[in-house]
Amino acid sequence: MTCKHCGASISEHDVKCPYCDSYIDHGTANNSYNNGAPMQNRQAFRVQGPDEPQPIFIVISLLIPLFGFIIGAVNISGGHPKSGRLYLILGAVSFFLLFCGTFMFPMMFMLPFFHMK
Ligand SMILES: [Zn+2]
Repeated sequence: MTCKHCGASISEHDVKCPYCDSYIDHGTANNSYNNGAPMQNRQAFRVQGPDEPQPIFIVISLLIPLFGFIIGAVNISGGHPKSGRLYLILGAVSFFLLFCGTFMFPMMFMLPFFHMK
C-alpha cells in the first residue's frame, strides 16, 4: 500500500509511515478515534436511541416508583433529560399514590367506625 500523506510505498502492517512519520489509516475500528466526535462516544455511559420516553419505562415508573427515580436519574445523566424528567415525575406521582393508598385508604375505612360511636 502507499502512504496517503507522502505517497511512499510502505508495508501493510506499518502503523507509522517510515518516510513521513505520519500514522497510517488502515480503515479499521479505531478509525472512529481519529475523526467525528470521539469525546462524545467515549463517554462512560450513554443511553441509546433518541430522547423519547419509552412506554415500557413509563409503565415501570408507575408500577415501581423507586425504579422510576433510578431510570429517571440514569436517563438524565445519560443524555436523555426529557424522558428522564418524565420518569422522575411519574415515579413521584406513583410514590404519592402509593403513599395515599397505604396510609389514606385504611383511614377512610376506619372513619365510619369513629362516627358510629
Ligand atoms: Zn508517508
